[in-house]
Amino acid sequence: MSSKMAACIFCKIVKGEIPCFNLYETERTLAFLDINPLSQGHALVIPKAHGAQLTDLDEESLQDLLPVAVKVAKASKIIDPKFADFNMLQNNGKLAHQEVDHVHFHMIPKPNEKEGLGIKWPQQ
Ligand code: 5GP
Repeated sequence: MSSKMAACIFCKIVKGEIPCFNLYETERTLAFLDINPLSQGHALVIPKAHGAQLTDLDEESLQDLLPVAVKVAKASKIIDPKFADFNMLQNNGKLAHQEVDHVHFHMIPKPNEKEGLGIKWPQQ
């Protein structure tokens, strides 16, 4: 294991060394709540195998990410029907404002400003 992987926060989350609010996982992918959410229900979807940027991932990890992200969005809509609109974004590299060097998709709910989301989402 490289020293970068040993120090990686998200690798520690995958290994269970740092707790997270787990939303869903497969053999290759993990979805959990962001510790500093931009809106309630802000989730991160990550490959379990370490890769700093999208271009570092193998095909199998890449192919699992989008189906898991969509599953999380659909499940979130069932749990909270007001989770209708959301942004999905993914930063690669310092110039693109990536802070954690382990690939992650942000799933950021855009609640109706008047009504907000339907439930109080847990914090992680
Ligand atoms: P980036 O700027 O790299 O695209 O976003 C990194 C995200 O990871 C941020 O939204 C930040 O709040 C989240 N994050 C950083 N450390 C932790 C952690 O230990 N646990 C969780 N759940 N999220 C984290």
